[in-house]
Amino acid sequence: MLWFRECPRCGGDLYRDRDMYGRYIACLQCGYYLSDAQMEALERMLATAQEPERAEAAVAA
Ligand SMILES: [Zn+2]
Repeated sequence: MLWFRECPRCGGDLYRDRDMYGRYIACLQCGYYLSDAQMEALERMLATAQEPERAEAAVAA
């Protein structure tokens, strides 16, 4: 999973991965790790961005 230009520090590309401590999202360019709150905000933003499409599909069906 990759998000382009979403790094809050350098504007670089974020990727999601997991290790023995759990999931994390980090920046490819500067190595910045998102805090739990930043991860939640990013995932919530992406989830709501997809919401209208699903709602429209439901109405069309
Ligand atoms: Zn960065």
